[in-house]
Amino acid sequence: MSTLEAVDTSMSPVGEGSPAVLVEDLWKRYGDVEAVRGVSFTVRRGEIFGLLGPNGAGKTTTVEIIEGMRRPDSGQVRVWGYDPLAQADHVKRHIGVALQSTALPDKIKVREALKLFASFYPRRIPVGELLQLVALQEKAESIFDTLSGGQQQRLAVALALVNDPDVIILDEPTAGLDPQARRELHEVIDQMRARGKTIILTTHYIEEAEKLCDRVAIIDRGKIIALDTPRRLIARSRGRSRIEFRTAAPIDVGALRQIPFVQKAAQNEEEYTVWTVDVPRTVVELIKWLESENHELLDLHVTRPTLEDVFIELTGRSIDR
Ligand code: ATP
Repeated sequence: MSTLEAVDTSMSPVGEGSPAVLVEDLWKRYGDVEAVRGVSFTVRRGEIFGLLGPNGAGKTTTVEIIEGMRRPDSGQVRVWGYDPLAQADHVKRHIGVALQSTALPDKIKVREALKLFASFYPRRIPVGELLQLVALQEKAESIFDTLSGGQQQRLAVALALVNDPDVIILDEPTAGLDPQARRELHEVIDQMRARGKTIILTTHYIEEAEKLCDRVAIIDRGKIIALDTPRRLIARSRGRSRIEFRTAAPIDVGALRQIPFVQKAAQNEEEYTVWTVDVPRTVVELIKWLESENHELLDLHVTRPTLEDVFIELTGRSIDR
């Protein structure tokens, strides 16, 4: 069976079990730059799916192709069973896209912007409900350019929701926001999850992907290099956990390195750190050794690897570089 046939049969628009979004072998080049190089994934209905990658990885290009704003050089996309280019009207009924909020006129008021966007669609969520959803009730009559960055981003999300879409695309929704504004936007995303919405979120914030997403595709240089739940990505990685502890009296770091399962050891003032891939066994061996040497343990905690460690392991560099 050809790839095209496979897409068509599995993606009947009426099929309840069919995925919310299907992306198959997308390629996109801008001149000499190969922005997207064979990207494939499926987004299930009701899940929050993250595209995590550094600047320039190809995230925006991928979501713009899903939105129907860009034509791929090759590959297939289906949104709720429809082709974003050939069946744009169907796709528009099911998709909501958070625009860069700066695309709005400076002097428009929050309520006016929501009403304007709602007027484009037959199906819509009442403006009052949208304002409540993004916690902007108090700003309903405020002029757009007087809003904070976080409020502008929340308005952009509300505008994406006016037609009560099934699939919502948020491209770097929290970029440049302070931690408080970022948390507020995370709450909005959690509310959308509670409403059963399917969300595709691009981000280069590791904690955001780890905290919000049901599954994460790590994208680098136009390719997906890993895709799974954050927990499984971390569990599968060879990332080392850190065991940090303090003792009543100083100990010899060299001796720590001799303890079974310890891969590396270091001292930072009064705190010692050992690295391992096997936390339970290492803790047992460490405590046995401390007792045999008559060292009193004051405190101990374990730090598990994060998606950041997974990214470094896969690419050999940090996501911010
Ligand atoms: P960012 O977070 O910086 O937007 P991204 O992961 O979303 O990064 P893209 O914006 O998709 O990545 O860009 C992928 C590559 O394609 C980059 O090298 C970028 O410079 C290039 N690119 C994107 N849009 C264009 C365009 N319109 N013309 C030429 N090159 C482009």
